[in-house]
Amino acid sequence: MSWIQRLQDGLAKTRQTVQSSLRRMVGAQLDPAVIEDVEASLLQADVGIRTVQRFLDEVNSKTGPFQASTPFEILRTLLLDILRKGETEPLEEIIRRGPKPFVFLTIGINGVGKTTTIAKLGHRFSQHGLKTLFVAGDTFRAAAIEQLDIWGKRTGVDVIKHKQGSDPAAVVFDGIVAAKARKMDVVLIDTAGRLHTKVNLMDELKKMKRIIEREMPGAPHETLLVLDGTLGQNTIAQARQFHESLGVTGLALTKLDGTARGGVVVAIVEELNLPIRLIGVGEKEEDLQDFNASAFVDALLPQDTPPL
Ligand code: GDP
Repeated sequence: MSWIQRLQDGLAKTRQTVQSSLRRMVGAQLDPAVIEDVEASLLQADVGIRTVQRFLDEVNSKTGPFQASTPFEILRTLLLDILRKGETEPLEEIIRRGPKPFVFLTIGINGVGKTTTIAKLGHRFSQHGLKTLFVAGDTFRAAAIEQLDIWGKRTGVDVIKHKQGSDPAAVVFDGIVAAKARKMDVVLIDTAGRLHTKVNLMDELKKMKRIIEREMPGAPHETLLVLDGTLGQNTIAQARQFHESLGVTGLALTKLDGTARGGVVVAIVEELNLPIRLIGVGEKEEDLQDFNASAFVDALLPQDTPPL
């Protein structure tokens, strides 16, 4: 299956939500009930109030009955315009241009997909010939250490780990020292993600960041925040808190396959002004993809699917 197909499959639920509402506009005079209906569906897909308002303003400026394709075209143009601002170049290119080792600090609350994302990235970077090291900085969960270990063995990536319950800052220290000594290209650091409302998590992450900076000035080169797409608008408040405390430089948005609220990508780009480095549309390795605005819009509102 091609990556475009994976993306389309992943976004199927969100696509249904968005398309069914648009279909109701076709041929209709724009009475308030139809508009309300569309507004509700777009909000349900979590594209965010600002984008919904822009869409409705555009629609309202048209007169007469709609062509079948008009609402699709209006929304496609609007979404492309917004989502292009979230695009970046592939991570491998950023790494190749950057210092060695290029250090990723990966953060986010429990269960969002941090460890999985790191594992998939390690696999991908290795395939691109980049010498990669995992650092098992989530010392809170034995399962996270084990998971990285298993992935490390499977993909030939070395893992720096300590026992469960040990000081994560100490693992990070060892990780950076090892990466420099072994002349690694990339270091992927996992972290714990107990609830972000607990001040001690932010303090712990800040401490890890300080150690990294001390051992390698200029690092971490990417502070990657992993967000769970199924959480919809809640991810935005979460991202703001992480950003305030730790200075996020890029986002990975996972689980877009398990949700009808994939429109949240639009709200995230609108509200946060941070690049989307990766999106997750499934659990397989190939399901972690670079974010491409036009592919995303095509998957959400395919041009060749005429409305009913
Ligand atoms: P962590 O606590 O943030 O490290 O989260 P994990 O990496 O342990 O992932 C939590 C769960 O989410 C696991 O069951 C993963 O397989 C799953 N997961 C991660 N990314 C995706 C994705 O893009 N799609 C789906 N469907 N599941 C995912």
